[in-house]
Amino acid sequence: ESRLQTKWAGCSVFYCPVIDSTNVKAKRLAEEGVSHGTLVVAGHQSAGKGRRGRVWESPEGTGIYMTLILRPGIKPEQAPMLTVLMAQSVADAIQTVTGITPGIKWPNDIVMDGRKICGILTEMSTEMTWIHYVVIGVGINVHQQTFPEELEDKASSLDLAGAQSVKRAELVAEVMKRFEIYYEQFEKEGDLSVIWERYNEMLVNRDREVRVLEPGHEYTGHAIGIDKNGELLVRRENGQVETIYAGEVSVRGI
Ligand code: ATP
Repeated sequence: ESRLQTKWAGCSVFYCPVIDSTNVKAKRLAEEGVSHGTLVVAGHQSAGKGRRGRVWESPEGTGIYMTLILRPGIKPEQAPMLTVLMAQSVADAIQTVTGITPGIKWPNDIVMDGRKICGILTEMSTEMTWIHYVVIGVGINVHQQTFPEELEDKASSLDLAGAQSVKRAELVAEVMKRFEIYYEQFEKEGDLSVIWERYNEMLVNRDREVRVLEPGHEYTGHAIGIDKNGELLVRRENGQVETIYAGEVSVRGI
């Protein structure tokens, strides 16, 4: 069933066969005033983006490249929670559509067999201390059979993970359905209570050693899980528990 079953998430779709980056296009549309829940979908990205200016490999015909535009009434420092909500939405949608349970690497990656199959890039525009709009970019590897050499041992696709005949439209519809439900609950509760338990169950970093790379500061510890604000709790060797804010750092290990 690839028909949308949502009230606002993905109800208005801009489809582009080729685009530089769905996040760039989404930001342009958001500036022009398109409504909350508008979705940009591309067949292929010529300059797909990851965090910190990195590249997201986006070959034609094989992946899902989409960006959801939101106008949330939250503070900028709460925006990383939207990334966590989207990660859970994608993980649950993959589980529903394929029957395979993926893992989540905090805060924004979905993994199967230790390899990344989905990346999420959240960007926002603020006005004073409030958010003007947020765009959440999602790249999902669906039908890729091979990857460029530098990604060979880091990336996978649903096909390679054993879920062959996934219809991309069906998966997109399922992600939108999940996201809308979680988002509305998040708006009511003001935190991630709605997904907190499931997220921690799917968290591949849990109980694992992680290396935290903060600007000018690096340490190792064991990830405990996320708190209800989506921050990662890490226990250091000296027993001290650090709270890591998603916007700031990279976590390695897995
Ligand atoms: P970090 O490892 O610091 O947490 P990240 O997980 O946030 O990084 P992103 O910035 O979200 O990474 O994604 C960009 C990175 O993902 C690239 O540097 C590359 O290693 C990898 N990558 C790029 N394209 C793909 C793809 N199609 N599938 C899987 N991984 C990819």
